[in-house]
Amino acid sequence: YNHNLQRTEKMKIISDLAASVAHEVRNPLQVTRGFLQLLSEKSDLENKNYFGMAINELDRASTIITDFLTFAKPEMETLVMLDLSEEIKKIEGIMSPLAALHGGILVIDIPENLHIYGNSSKLKQAFINIIKNSIEAIGKDGVIGIYAYSTERDVILRISDNGEGMEEEKLASLGEPFFSTKSKGTGLGLMVTFRIIEAMKGSIEFRSTKGKGTEAIIRFPLIKQS
Ligand code: ADP
Ligand code: MG
Repeated sequence: YNHNLQRTEKMKIISDLAASVAHEVRNPLQVTRGFLQLLSEKSDLENKNYFGMAINELDRASTIITDFLTFAKPEMETLVMLDLSEEIKKIEGIMSPLAALHGGILVIDIPENLHIYGNSSKLKQAFINIIKNSIEAIGKDGVIGIYAYSTERDVILRISDNGEGMEEEKLASLGEPFFSTKSKGTGLGLMVTFRIIEAMKGSIEFRSTKGKGTEAIIRFPLIKQS
């Protein structure tokens, strides 16, 4: 009769262990990255290229570990009131240059004073994973729209792109661990995003048309201020 209880306890131990291993691996990666950066600055053009590639691969490993860490421990230690427009502004600073690199732009329209409960860094991770996918799906003249509004009970955020889109089948597989159609994809991004949004008591839904684009619709409970 306490079979379930034991099972949960065991799973907690495993995820704690996984989280601490992931955490410990991230530090030496960051140190190595620092030294490679230093060496790169002192080297000629050809070697700079190799250092650049090495740094990119390290960054990839770090992303995988960060995603994995969040998956193992999605609980948020601190849930605070967040202003959505401020959170999106921070993300814009990071993602706009990346969008430009892929020939696209971010068009953002978020009203002020939309408040939700969450954890700022986890929320950032969740949204960045979605926006990164949009950036990877667009061609030149790519437009990624991010806008939000509120209803009686919810804050709704829509992230849309005019990228390659997906057929039904692919759409149904989103968020499955290791589902990826990219040669360098991890298939962990949306899995983590779903998990974070769920932990923040929100929901997410995707709509997509092959050849036209994709839209993610995210809802969070609205925090009403008196
Ligand atoms: P990854 O990006 O590493 O492949 P994700 O979990 O982030 O893993 O995404 C899984 C897959 O979903 C992608 O490989 C891609 O095929 C599809 N996908 C996600 N977002 C979009 C999008 N905006 N447009 C087209 N395809 C997408
Ligand atoms: Mg991705």
